[in-house]
Amino acid sequence: LEDTSRAWVLVHLDALRHNVEEVRRLLPEKTNLIVVVKANMYGLGAVRCVKEFQKMGIDFFAVSSIDEALQLRENGIYDDILILGYTPPVHFHYLIEYDLIQTLLSYEYAVELDAYAKTQNAYVRCNAKADTGMGRVGVRCVENDYHIEELIKMYQLANLKVEGMFSHFSVSDEVEDEKQILYTNQQIKQFEQVEQDLRNAGIDPGYLHLQNSLGIINYPQLCYDFARPGIILCGVSSDENMPMRQQIDLWPVLELKANVSRVKEVPAHASISYGRNFETDKPSRIATVSIGYADGYSRNLNGLARVLIHGEYAPVVGNICMDQCMIDVTHIPDVKEGDVVTLVGKDGDRALSLDEMSHHLKTINNATLCLFSARLPRIYV
Ligand code: PLP
Repeated sequence: LEDTSRAWVLVHLDALRHNVEEVRRLLPEKTNLIVVVKANMYGLGAVRCVKEFQKMGIDFFAVSSIDEALQLRENGIYDDILILGYTPPVHFHYLIEYDLIQTLLSYEYAVELDAYAKTQNAYVRCNAKADTGMGRVGVRCVENDYHIEELIKMYQLANLKVEGMFSHFSVSDEVEDEKQILYTNQQIKQFEQVEQDLRNAGIDPGYLHLQNSLGIINYPQLCYDFARPGIILCGVSSDENMPMRQQIDLWPVLELKANVSRVKEVPAHASISYGRNFETDKPSRIATVSIGYADGYSRNLNGLARVLIHGEYAPVVGNICMDQCMIDVTHIPDVKEGDVVTLVGKDGDRALSLDEMSHHLKTINNATLCLFSARLPRIYV
């Protein structure tokens, strides 16, 4: 496949396994993992990655939506699956048919789901969601806006099996700024308050989980039943320089590669690509590479990106097209059609990080990974 594809994503399963081990090492022994495999496991391929996680004893996964959950079930994955987002009422029947765990996004939503379950004479497995400060979904449980009574009533709905309770951090990555650290600590405090108030009301909240990737890295001492890592398992996290980042050895899982489709010698003042934004300043050798913005190699990288070829860096020149882009290889001898170009990853002693691409795109690695389109085959090595 590597030889016949124009461009492809390489997924290093040994790195994926290594990152799981690192996360486990960081967390208390009693804390298990709910691995977040939404958005096709951040573009790595959810089904294949889940099968790898299963071999490591992981049996609980989280996805964003019902269609992502069904994709796992249809591929023979029968472990626990938590849906983090909204399942519309027309799809409630799937929750029962496929034994899925639905997040309760509000008390009203829980009532609606319970009413449906009653009509089916069935129970739906659920997790209660407390909004301790993220401001997205869940029952508001922040200071001065604290609705514990709604959570209590949720647990009392007869046809819902509320087997766990969770919340989500909004700034667990920001450990340089005192205000943000205080905010995360306040979220932790609120979460503990919710647990306590449920217990005081005679309710067993079930299993508890709070930390995302940076919550694990920066607050590893927290000891809940589960943690919910996603991006960290891809071997990239937002800031290589943050202090706690030194405590974990992450291996990048993904590489992005493409083939050279043509090499040409052009004179000085040759215009390259749409828009004529680049002109050679001297006689140059320009290679065309079979990857473009339809693959997720964004036009926002115009004028910024570089690649690796024959172990050397080469700049991307001219505008990135839908399926192709051009690189200047004047300084690299013997480049020929079919040569492999590395857009993210390693070539010889040199590497191009996803961080670099995300920096150019002014975004986070999570978002960059989601750009790599379905058109790119995922090759597992
Ligand atoms: N938990 C929830 C509720 C999420 O929405 C996400 C993803 O955004 C995660 C966990 C995993 O986050 P991360 O990729 O930062 O580990």
